[in-house]
Amino acid sequence: MKVAVLGAGFAGLGAAMRLSENHEVTIIERLPSLGGVVASVDYDGAKIPWGSHWILSTDTSLVDLIKELGLENKLRWKNIRMGFFYEQRIYGIASPLELLSFSPLPFFARIRFGLFGLLVLLSKGRLAKSLEGKSAGKWLMETAGKDVCDNLFEPLARIKFNQSLDEISASWLYNRLVDTAKGGEKYGFLEGGFETLIKAIKERIEKNGGKIILDSEVRKIGISGGKASSVTFVHGDGEKTIETDAVVSALPIPVLLKTAELPVEYREQLSRVKYKYIINAFFVLDKKLVSGFDWVNYCYDGLPFGGTLEHEMSVYKNSDSGSLLYVFTYLNEKDSLWEKSKEEIKNIYQTELEKLFPGIVKIIRHAFVEKSNLAWPIYDKDYGSYMPWNKTPVKGLYLAGIFTTYPKMPSTGVAAESGYEASRLIGGEIK
Ligand SMILES: Cc1cc2nc3c(=O)[nH]c(=O)nc-3n(C[C@H](O)[C@H](O)[C@H](O)COP(=O)(O)OP(=O)(O)OC[C@H]3O[C@@H](n4cnc5c(N)ncnc54)[C@H](O)[C@@H]3O)c2cc1C
Repeated sequence: MKVAVLGAGFAGLGAAMRLSENHEVTIIERLPSLGGVVASVDYDGAKIPWGSHWILSTDTSLVDLIKELGLENKLRWKNIRMGFFYEQRIYGIASPLELLSFSPLPFFARIRFGLFGLLVLLSKGRLAKSLEGKSAGKWLMETAGKDVCDNLFEPLARIKFNQSLDEISASWLYNRLVDTAKGGEKYGFLEGGFETLIKAIKERIEKNGGKIILDSEVRKIGISGGKASSVTFVHGDGEKTIETDAVVSALPIPVLLKTAELPVEYREQLSRVKYKYIINAFFVLDKKLVSGFDWVNYCYDGLPFGGTLEHEMSVYKNSDSGSLLYVFTYLNEKDSLWEKSKEEIKNIYQTELEKLFPGIVKIIRHAFVEKSNLAWPIYDKDYGSYMPWNKTPVKGLYLAGIFTTYPKMPSTGVAAESGYEASRLIGGEIK
């Protein structure tokens, strides 16, 4: 059977890898490289993801995939220390002692926060169902209290999602906290970064006879007689159409809506899926910037970015002793920063970083800025009621993507799993 997989993020790659075992697969990707949100850019012989990516220790699907492709010997685990920047000081809250000295919270709120952490850890994900349809604001106010909400979770929600807690799903935030509590500070890297894994997936797909077409924007999924039967894409100057027996769309939902004529009711359901706007920059530095912490959340207003994440450059380039500093901002389309050019954003970030870390400008070797308005679906409290599933009402058309995996914490492994699921459904339909 001929199957077209549209989009080569981890969902598309997962689907293509499984489908290529039994079918004639063609992947069509708009960008010149694979990986989607994890796609890399070249710097001095190294491949660096445009957005910071670690392997989450709770992402068992990803770890299984790494093992399946024989890359386990390239996997390294590291303790990543997260800090919170309040009033010119960085606080850790990983240990009970650190928590007790976390002065931005009143003393009794620190105790309550500690008990809340314990509840999350011991509940092991069992509360997710009961929180469905509830806002994170309501849940946290009831369980962690007002001081913890106002001084910790509300600023974090602004930094991480540019949303208030009332706009966020409690079930999803709870799952995220469970994963964070379970994983602790343990995060993984592959030698050479995610590019090492993407290369191995590509080789596996090609070994199975799959075809990969890059630099090609999908324009139309042809549906005739109620069945997905062709895909039209632009490659170079020309438009090309391929006939197909099934299509897996691993495209962001707004792109799918532009490319396929879907039944009205289904279209209305999909139109409810909205995405966050993200600006991500990385700075290659001569040496590590923030001592004692790898990930810092900046808990105050007026800063153009919400956090910084630091990786060792040696992950991406063996002999390099430098540091890779990611800076990120989650925002809305109406935010004035979104309108600025990448060069202007780079200068704004640099100026603010220099105020926080005097002297940083002198150790910056290279800077790169990227913007995306389709990288992160927004999970509001009702998302569970309109979440798209892998199967669609159109025969032969399946979906894969992180938007099908709520309330799990979005990750590369979870995205790949949604691709496996689309592949399983296609296999089942044939039987
Ligand atoms: C900033 C950031 C940091 C993250 N950090 C981590 C982390 O540390 N660890 C972790 O495991 N996960 C992390 N995640 C989550 C994880 O990366 C994503 O959830 C996952 O990669 C999404 O995969 P996807 O295939 O669903 O979507 P995408 O990666 O968005 O894939 C969609 C693909 O469709 C392509 N496309 C779009 N339009 C067209 C078109 N018209 N024609 C053809 N192709 C098209 C895109 O180019 C893209 O390749 C992070 C996410 C973000 C945004």
